[in-house]
Amino acid sequence: MKKVKIPVKYVNVLAHKYSIESTSNLSDEELGRCHTTEQRIFVRDDIPGDSMRDVTLHELMHAVHFHMELNDGSTEESFTSRTATGLRTVLVNNPTLCRWIFQPSKN
Ligand SMILES: [Zn+2]
Repeated sequence: MKKVKIPVKYVNVLAHKYSIESTSNLSDEELGRCHTTEQRIFVRDDIPGDSMRDVTLHELMHAVHFHMELNDGSTEESFTSRTATGLRTVLVNNPTLCRWIFQPSKN
């Protein structure tokens, strides 16, 4: 399987500059990892393109939730509202990454 490349090296998450990279250094149980304190996102590089896009979005959501201080104690309405605003802000501010995430994978 040909490895899929994430089209950017950095992503603006609510004015926090995160590095984003594919890697083969995650454990077998991990598809991705978001280090909020180091502002780094990792996505494993040996999964299909659609999965890479899904995992990238998943890790971005962790960053959004962290910076919006959303947690298990948040109400559903607060969680939904702040997630929508945070995610839309990330997608609007990162058009290249946004296009890639929502583009069907060719492999
Ligand atoms: Zn997760």
